[in-house]
Amino acid sequence: LLLRLACLGVLLSIAFFGRFYDRSHTANGAQHSTDKPAQADDAVRAFAVTKHRLRRDLTYHLDTAGCSDHCQDGADAVASGVSAWDVSGFTLTQSAAPAIDPCTGTPNSISWAAIDGPGRMIALTRPCFNQKTGELLGFQMTFNSATAWSDCIGLAACHQLPHSYSIAAVAAHEAGHIYGLDHAPGTLSSRLTMSAVASPGDYGHATLGCGDRLGINALYKTHLECVALPGD
Ligand SMILES: [Zn+2]
Repeated sequence: LLLRLACLGVLLSIAFFGRFYDRSHTANGAQHSTDKPAQADDAVRAFAVTKHRLRRDLTYHLDTAGCSDHCQDGADAVASGVSAWDVSGFTLTQSAAPAIDPCTGTPNSISWAAIDGPGRMIALTRPCFNQKTGELLGFQMTFNSATAWSDCIGLAACHQLPHSYSIAAVAAHEAGHIYGLDHAPGTLSSRLTMSAVASPGDYGHATLGCGDRLGINALYKTHLECVALPGD
């Protein structure tokens, strides 16, 4: 069974969470503005799915060593961000005895480590899944230790730290890759959790938008609506 695991698929599935809005938006003539609505825009219905999804709850090891700037409550921020996807019916939870990622032979983990220096990538996730069944079996989520982070919860708190990335918002995005969502296509998707780009001081991606919820419906046969978003 281990030989069937999708280790090549894992490499191909590495999810890059870009650092700059401007990088993608300038190509379309749109301007990045910090005055955009900070919550996910429930009018945007875009989503993209991958070939894998969860079929059971998973546990993970959490290590916030390497997180710098405002990280005291980083564990709470990670849990808050990841739990945005509990609406799928499956959960990812921290555990002292976490399940093993069969692709690496090590526990599923969420941790901080060097990625590309203070560069473009702020976090990445390596999902491990069975290529035959599409079942998500394990994951490694890495936050860039060279990036400034904040354990802020809520729009106002995160706006007060405009140079630090919200751990909760980025955890929500990265967890979306574990649940089987790819980056939302289109130029209007920047407020969705699965937008490929993020900006510091922004908490909005911690709340699922319409496309994010439609993606969960497509993958998990749920019936989430696009109105009355939790946290709005
Ligand atoms: Zn991503």
